[in-house]
Amino acid sequence: METWLLYLLIVFAIGSGWWLGRRERGKRADSLDPKYYQGLNFLLNEEPDRAVATFIDDLEVNSDTLETHLALGGLLRRRGELEKAVVVHENILNRASLDKESMQHVQLELARDYLLAGLLDRAEELSVVLADASPSVKNDSYKITLEIYEREKEWSQAIEVAKLLAVGDRTEKYEKAISHYYCEIAEIHLSKNRNEEARSAVSEAIGHDAYSPRASLIHGRVDINEHLFDDAIRVLQRIKDQDAVYVPESLDALAVAYEGSDHPVEEFREYLTSCLEVTPSISIVLKIAATIRDESGDEAVAKFVADHLKKNPTIRGLTQLIDLHIDNTEGIAKENLSILRSFTQALVADKPAYRCNHCGFEGKKMRWHCPSCKDWSTIKPIFGLEGE
Ligand SMILES: [Zn+2]
Repeated sequence: METWLLYLLIVFAIGSGWWLGRRERGKRADSLDPKYYQGLNFLLNEEPDRAVATFIDDLEVNSDTLETHLALGGLLRRRGELEKAVVVHENILNRASLDKESMQHVQLELARDYLLAGLLDRAEELSVVLADASPSVKNDSYKITLEIYEREKEWSQAIEVAKLLAVGDRTEKYEKAISHYYCEIAEIHLSKNRNEEARSAVSEAIGHDAYSPRASLIHGRVDINEHLFDDAIRVLQRIKDQDAVYVPESLDALAVAYEGSDHPVEEFREYLTSCLEVTPSISIVLKIAATIRDESGDEAVAKFVADHLKKNPTIRGLTQLIDLHIDNTEGIAKENLSILRSFTQALVADKPAYRCNHCGFEGKKMRWHCPSCKDWSTIKPIFGLEGE
C-alpha cells in the first residue's frame, strides 16, 4: 500500500512539474497533450511497456521534458524494470540536443542501469567516458566504477579508484574500503602460500586502517603458516581491542598458535576470560570450556558453562551443556536429554548467525563485504538467545 502511494506521488510530481513547465512557457497553457495522460494511464494500469512506448513516441526530449524522462527512467529502475529503464535513458541520448552537462547526467543514469543489470562492460565503458565530466558527475561515476571493480574482484583497480574518492568528508569510508581491498589481495596470496606477498598486502591494509581486525586475522594466519607462533598470538590478540565482536573469528587460529607455541594454556584461558568481559560470546565460552575439559573434566566444564548461561542464555550454550550431561548419564535420563538436544538443534538450524548493521542483511557465514548494501565491516555476529 505504501509503495503504491509513493508511486502515485511520484507520478503526480512528474505530471505537475511537466505541466508547470509548459504553463510557464505560455504554450498551450490550459491543456496537456492527451498522449501524456495516456502514458500516465498505462503506468498506473501496470502496463509499463505501453507507457514507455507512449512517452518515447509522443513526448519530445528537450530541456523542458528532460526531468520527466529521467524520472520515468529512475522509476522503472527502482521497480527493477531495468531493460525499460535502459530504453528510456538511451532514447534521451539518441534524440536530445541537450547541453553537455545534462548529457553526462543521462550517461550516468544509463551506467547505473547497466550496473544493476549486470552489464558491467557497458557500465565501465560509460563511466570511463565520464572521467572528464563535471565534478559532481565525475564523483558519481567513480562510485559506479568502484562498484564494478568490486563485483569483478579487480582489487588493484578498485584501490586506484577508491583513492580518488577518499577525499573530503568521505575519507574514512574509502580508507576502510581500501584496507579491505588489500586484505582481499592478501587472502588470495595466503591461499596460495605466498606468505611474503600476503605480508606486504597486510601491511598496506594496516596503513589504510590501523585498527582493522581483518588485517590482524590475516597477519596471524601468515605467521602461523611460517610457524611464528609467538608473533601470531601477539597479532591475533590485538583483535580484542580493535573490535571485540570479531574475537570469535580468531579463536581457531589462536588455538593453533597456542598449541604450536610454548605459551601455557592458562595464559590462553586468561586472555579468553578477559575477552568475555568485553563481549559475552558463547564461542569464547565454549573455547574456554574446551581448555577446562582437558584439565579438569566434564563436571568442572558443566559448572562453568551453566554459570555463564545464567547471565547470558544462548541455545548453543544449552546444547553444549546437554552434550556434557548426555556423556555422563544413562537410561531414561539419557534418552530424554537426546530428545531435548534434537529440539535445541532444530531451534538454531535455520537461524542466521550474522547481520549487517547497516541494511539488516542476514546470513549464516561471516562476510566482510555486505552482499546487499555493499558496505564493508558492517556485518557482525548476532548476539542473544539464538546467536552468540
Ligand atoms: Zn548491508
